[in-house]
Amino acid sequence: MPPGPAARPADAPAGLADRYGRRATDMRLSLTDKCNLRCTYCMPAEGLEWLAKQAVMSAEEIVRIVRIGVDRLGVRELRLTGGEPLVRHDLVEIIAALRSNHPDLPISMTTNGVGLAKKAAALKAAGLTRINVSLDSLHEETFTKLTRRPFLDQVLAGVDAAWAAGLGPVKLNAVLMRGINDAESPSLLAWALDRGYELRFIEQMPLDADHGWTRRNMITAAEIRSLLSVDYVLSPDPRARDGAPAERFEVRRRAAGSAEAQGPVLGTVGIIASVTEPFCSDCRRTRITAEGKIMSCLFSREEYDLLGLLREGASDDALAERWQDAMWVKPKAHGMDHVGLDAPDFVQPDRSMSAIGG
Ligand code: SAM
Ligand code: SF4
Repeated sequence: MPPGPAARPADAPAGLADRYGRRATDMRLSLTDKCNLRCTYCMPAEGLEWLAKQAVMSAEEIVRIVRIGVDRLGVRELRLTGGEPLVRHDLVEIIAALRSNHPDLPISMTTNGVGLAKKAAALKAAGLTRINVSLDSLHEETFTKLTRRPFLDQVLAGVDAAWAAGLGPVKLNAVLMRGINDAESPSLLAWALDRGYELRFIEQMPLDADHGWTRRNMITAAEIRSLLSVDYVLSPDPRARDGAPAERFEVRRRAAGSAEAQGPVLGTVGIIASVTEPFCSDCRRTRITAEGKIMSCLFSREEYDLLGLLREGASDDALAERWQDAMWVKPKAHGMDHVGLDAPDFVQPDRSMSAIGG
């Protein structure tokens, strides 16, 4: 449902501004709700009911929406996501069309890496800037338990192929699950540091379709830092965070039997603490789901239909206005850090992560 006409005042700032002085410049666009993995923290084992093909944005519609975002609304960065973006057959064509319209726009993609080895070079040639690959475990059995699919080798080959194709710096996303892969966190970091990949740990958010998330069971950012501190000393990265969701740390080896660091900086690690240390006050994101709905926040319970309006023949002006109206009412914060998150008043959004576009 669109916000009422009075919602955004006539003298509201330009671009994708909201009532709290933030401006969204970072666009997350979902290319599909479909996926070939079934990560336990995201999808149910049996999958979800996929959207009908005609309900999903076509390549032309995506290109038009991105053009409006970039040319009229101040979008400065685009991240393609899903579902799994690699399952879209026209992915390379979409990226090529976006690149041709926006020669300088940073365009990155978040993928589970299945099938990436075969496509990395074509994605780079089409104009993709950079890639994030999700990788929760380096152990076949744990990977398969978490994703419910035996594709670890494919993902590892995909990560290496992306780096070789020039899609670096390669960032790796890992969600830690208690008793499953949390103990693996230092070795996952060692593996990433050895290869020059930037690992980011993401706190598990209550966005799983199975509604199995609990506050008590999730691994917090503080726990992640403590797990890593057995082998490493982390110190805040001096570079400005600049609206990035991940808090970055420089990593050095811990001297044996000491709290002190030893040797040079080995690389960086990021922690995305959306639950316990949220960064809502500096959020710069605007999201478009695969069926062209605007979401101002991962936890929004309100969505605003951009694709429907586009298909009714709306002008670029009208589409830009709908987008601005939707962002104007972006909530101040998602409130997930409240102590009583397991309390009955916390309402998990209807959509799971894969259906929003994480
Ligand atoms: N399929 C692609 C992938 O897995 O990278 C892109 C979409 S996925 C929804 C984007 C990111 O969201 C992944 O890094 C995934 O680990 C993360 N994610 C999914 N469900 C999550 C949850 N409940 N809490 C935190 N992160 C989650
Ligand atoms: Fe698929 Fe990504 Fe969700 Fe895993 S996290 S089920 S790969 S959309």
